[in-house]
Amino acid sequence: MKLGSVSPDEVMMENFTYQQPKTLEKAVGNSGRFIAGGTTLVDLMKLGVETPTVLVDVNALPLAQVEPLPHGGLMIGAMVRNSDLANHPRVKESYPVLSLALLSGASPQLRNMATTGGNLLQRTRCPYFRDTAYAACNKRNPGSGCSAMEGHHRMMAVLGTSSSCIATHPSDMCVAMTALDAVIHIEGAKGKRTVAIGEFYKMPGDTPNIENVLEAGELITHVELPPPSGNKQIYLKLRDRASYEFALASTAVVAKVEGGHIRSVRVVMGGVGTKPWRSHEAESVLLGKAANLGNFEKAAQAALKDAKPHPGNAFKVELARRCVVRALKMATA
Ligand SMILES: Cc1cc2nc3c(=O)[nH]c(=O)nc-3n(C[C@H](O)[C@H](O)[C@H](O)COP(=O)(O)OP(=O)(O)OC[C@H]3O[C@@H](n4cnc5c(N)ncnc54)[C@H](O)[C@@H]3O)c2cc1C
Ligand code: SF4
Repeated sequence: MKLGSVSPDEVMMENFTYQQPKTLEKAVGNSGRFIAGGTTLVDLMKLGVETPTVLVDVNALPLAQVEPLPHGGLMIGAMVRNSDLANHPRVKESYPVLSLALLSGASPQLRNMATTGGNLLQRTRCPYFRDTAYAACNKRNPGSGCSAMEGHHRMMAVLGTSSSCIATHPSDMCVAMTALDAVIHIEGAKGKRTVAIGEFYKMPGDTPNIENVLEAGELITHVELPPPSGNKQIYLKLRDRASYEFALASTAVVAKVEGGHIRSVRVVMGGVGTKPWRSHEAESVLLGKAANLGNFEKAAQAALKDAKPHPGNAFKVELARRCVVRALKMATA
């Protein structure tokens, strides 16, 4: 049966085994998928982009809690819905950059379904990836080429691209989590491990089909946020319309300013990179310097200096530069 020609219900009934999570990693194997909110996965199955043989429903797992940690951090279960996380009192109070980023994403209905784990693993919105009529897509079909190179570039990345893929990482939440130095907790057949979010996503290189360090069957169980340090935080998102739209450029800033000088800072960009794009270059321009417009502009320049735009997204370099400057002004005001 061709996936694109049937309803999701039929797909579930006729093509897939729908299992309760007992031995999760064994059940999902190489060709299966966990399903959480389903807002990415079901779309891609209907489009015929994802064709899992088995779906393992993780909704019943006891991972829907946001728990304070003894040292002051926060442990977020992978099944916590985006709406619940955005509106959690501790998140609003101590990690506002995360709340702002979540609330800028998708729509209220989608946020009510989307989960923390699923958001981390959402796939790119590259139209050539999502449309199987385009044969050439190295991410969907390794070695087939890249239709986007000579196609529409407006939503494509300008940082971290390769000759194989220029797809943008679409998540808002992950940009904020990168600025907060989040740590991802993973469990699989080999046991438990943790990975800093900065090490979690892979650059496309020659293998854009490999997007992160998860191994087949591994489950994300939690995301840990370090203790808040009283930093100022902002998430600024620029997009084609005010709601229900992915970022053309966004910036998360987490900064500590003392005596008018920047004592610590994280600058992470969304909408422009092949992964949530932390700019170490911008941060080193800012560290120890006065929090003023001149330094913000130098930092933004540094953040975009390696950008490799295509004709249809050259505007993004200036847009992202302005986004960084504005976010720094807002965060340090
Ligand atoms: C119309 C639309 C607009 C959107 N706009 C935005 C936007 O502006 N900004 C934004 O950031 N996002 C946006 N999104 C994306 C949305 O945030 C994601 O679809 C959502 O976060 C995915 O979460 P989910 O729980 O539904 O994932 P699912 O669809 O259930 O899963 C996604 C992937 O994650 C895997 N997975 C899920 N949970 C786990 C786990 N615990 N461990 C291991 N693997 C797991 C699944 O196997 C699958 O591969 C939009 C989506 C839509 C449909
Ligand atoms: S940019 Fe990446 S995802 Fe898009 S068509 Fe090219 S290879 Fe596929």
